[in-house]
Amino acid sequence: MASVSEHEVIVVGAGPGGATAATALAQAGRDVALLDRQRFPRDKICGDAISLGAIRIMNDLGMAGKIAAARARGEFYPLDGMRLVSPSGRTLEVPFHGGPADEDSYVAPRLYYDAVIQQQAIDSGACFEQAEVEAPLLADGRVVGVRARRNGTMHEYRAPLVIAADGVTSTIMRQLRPETEQHVDMHRAVALRAYVEGMELFPHKVEFFLYEEVLPGYAWIFSAGDDLANIGLGMRLDVFRRNKHNLKKMLRDFLAMPAIRSRLREGHVVRDVAIWQLSFGSQKGLQHAFDGALLVGDAAGFINPLTGGGIHNALISGLLAAETAGEALKRGDFSRESLRVYEERCHEAMWSGMRTSFFYQRFLMNYPTLVDWLIRFLGRHGGVAKAFVSKL
Ligand SMILES: Cc1cc2nc3c(=O)[nH]c(=O)nc-3n(C[C@H](O)[C@H](O)[C@H](O)COP(=O)(O)OP(=O)(O)OC[C@H]3O[C@@H](n4cnc5c(N)ncnc54)[C@H](O)[C@@H]3O)c2cc1C
Repeated sequence: MASVSEHEVIVVGAGPGGATAATALAQAGRDVALLDRQRFPRDKICGDAISLGAIRIMNDLGMAGKIAAARARGEFYPLDGMRLVSPSGRTLEVPFHGGPADEDSYVAPRLYYDAVIQQQAIDSGACFEQAEVEAPLLADGRVVGVRARRNGTMHEYRAPLVIAADGVTSTIMRQLRPETEQHVDMHRAVALRAYVEGMELFPHKVEFFLYEEVLPGYAWIFSAGDDLANIGLGMRLDVFRRNKHNLKKMLRDFLAMPAIRSRLREGHVVRDVAIWQLSFGSQKGLQHAFDGALLVGDAAGFINPLTGGGIHNALISGLLAAETAGEALKRGDFSRESLRVYEERCHEAMWSGMRTSFFYQRFLMNYPTLVDWLIRFLGRHGGVAKAFVSKL
């Protein structure tokens, strides 16, 4: 028989979304178990770009000291701007904010970034356990906990509310959302990430390359240190499948482009090549609140459909789930009806950004000449360029 423990809330997944929800709940004095199948620190396939909005939430949750320490160790690399390269090779540079030093945006390899945010959950009082969740526990159709493998044996974590933040392949989401209501390919993407050493970089810049073969999508070079770049490329899944693309070949082709090849020094190293998927928040009508459960971050599918950024939205939804969970605990009501306000809050916080980004992704990113025109236009109007970038 499986051993059993009881908590007020169980959070599955200690990535940015789950760790944020667990931190906020623990800081509110709640008994929260935070489960992850991996031991931290651990890698996660990502571009590693951490937006200013995400940093502000972390500061609000008391992480300024941890961020400053990680920055001093060179694990968080501050950014001061972006470069956009159009299909015809035209370049647009957009400087970022000029805020105080603790409010920069960063490139922070997830090995380091996630360790900071997971540690904050533990320091706030969440009970972290390495356990792989196999399924939600159900009673009369309601989620009442999870069944997980811990140290090789089965364990039941029981709670009136489960926050599922177990990423894009979420075990809990798959079992709760009917098969007919999963993400469709038009609202998903597939992407490849690698680290490169020995490349000429634009220090403190993230670079986006928009060219015909990768649209609707982009390739990126994000400087992550004096001699380290996170590089990769991603594309909308329906187009990727239709054109029978191959991401590893696309990476080779990208690195062979004259403008990129000339930046690679003799003896450069391309390492940690890995592929993962993304679910966009642009698909309408998906359910995120269930009897006894809420979906957060990539488990819900809250990635921006133009930029591919999902960390900020994982943090936002983690906070909103914690707020909704706190209210439900006070009322003692964990029904879908009572938790539905979470869906409204997520909609209010994220939908307008998703809609704008999806519009640009669908009607612009399919047409290289339009992308060229836009980058030329933005290059002539610096103020509009900054405003445009801030809307994404
Ligand atoms: C190639 C690529 C590049 C990206 N680049 C960026 C970027 O530069 N900036 C950005 O903001 N976003 C980026 N994203 C999106 C970003 O990675 C995600 O939006 C973000 O990680 C979502 O956080 P999360 O906490 O919801 O999920 P995750 O970060 O995926 O965390 C989920 C956690 O759940 C755990 N877990 C999974 N299953 C189980 C289980 N059964 N039991 C227990 N634990 C489990 C995992 O171990 C993991 O720790 C990128 C995504 C990809 C694929």
